[in-house]
Amino acid sequence: MQQKPQPEPLLESAPEICSRLIKAAQNASVSDIHIQPQQDGSADVSFRLDGVLSKTESLSAEVASLVIGRIKFLAKLKTYEHSIPQDGRIDRNDAGIEHELRVSTYPTVSGEKIVIRLFTEETIKPLDQLGLDLGTFNILQGFLHQRQGLMLLTGPSGSGKTTTIYSCLKHLLSSDSRHIITVEDPVEQIIPGIMQTEINEVRGLNFPKSIRHLLRQDPEVIVIGEIRDDETADIAIRAALTGHQVIATLHAGSCHGVIDRLRVMVDDHFALTAVLKVIVNQRLVRRCCENCDARGCEQCAHTGYHGRVPLVETLTIGEQDFATLQQGRPFTRTPSPNLKQAAEKLINLQVTDNREINRILGI
Ligand SMILES: [Zn+2]
Repeated sequence: MQQKPQPEPLLESAPEICSRLIKAAQNASVSDIHIQPQQDGSADVSFRLDGVLSKTESLSAEVASLVIGRIKFLAKLKTYEHSIPQDGRIDRNDAGIEHELRVSTYPTVSGEKIVIRLFTEETIKPLDQLGLDLGTFNILQGFLHQRQGLMLLTGPSGSGKTTTIYSCLKHLLSSDSRHIITVEDPVEQIIPGIMQTEINEVRGLNFPKSIRHLLRQDPEVIVIGEIRDDETADIAIRAALTGHQVIATLHAGSCHGVIDRLRVMVDDHFALTAVLKVIVNQRLVRRCCENCDARGCEQCAHTGYHGRVPLVETLTIGEQDFATLQQGRPFTRTPSPNLKQAAEKLINLQVTDNREINRILGI
């Protein structure tokens, strides 16, 4: 009698594969692990390093479903549920690494996609070591030394806005003892000495509601993870008008884009003009690897790049802009230097190259 063929024993169990992927990602300072299902049930594993996603391995169909199940189990998600998006966290002890992981699942036409975000706890750099040009550094420092006003940061996700904000907070902590409160989605890194909070949409704690409550906690500086709606924009401006320093991000492609969006979101243009001080538009560009002069070596995983540096344009709002803003006239004054000029400077200093700038700015 012919025996039914048994499946080949796996070389590595699903827990072993998960643990190996997570450790490898941590060791290489990877920010995200993607597990992307394919039509045939297999899955591609990719790592995002310095902002660039690249495939590292494939998992067979059999292994992929076990690995995805294992990750969902560790993240305390419903393992039997495949058709709705789920979010969870893996405790650092369960992950076997130093930091906890955030897990997000999403159903796709070929199966469940998983993204694991690693909270690499890089020490938060002091503001003067972020790699900002001197002009930008002086503008940020100038704003931070004031007692009230609104600073907005814009740029695509992953453009380093949060890192810049954290460095600003570190600067504030080192220079005086102001009461700083953050409302984030989620908290990406714990900063001792700061009251950090997270929104919780499920419990009804969205940005506007959280900020309203937190204003009663007597803050001097409020950080708003993101202004997404008119209500939050309004509260941010009210807070800045009533003696608070407010730092927030807002989604827009440029400094002018921030002004255009705020004008639509906020009815009171006088209040807006009174509080808006600084707009920062930021990207992150990869540094040319110093070890190999961008030729490619072990240290840069043969990419020619190692680490990233902010590419920033900044617009300060001053008295000369009040009439334009209040009357709703087109805002024409451009940041100086703008992103393109700042990029040219980085190329001239050989910090980065044309190819990387083209990738980031699409020019
Ligand atoms: Zn190299």
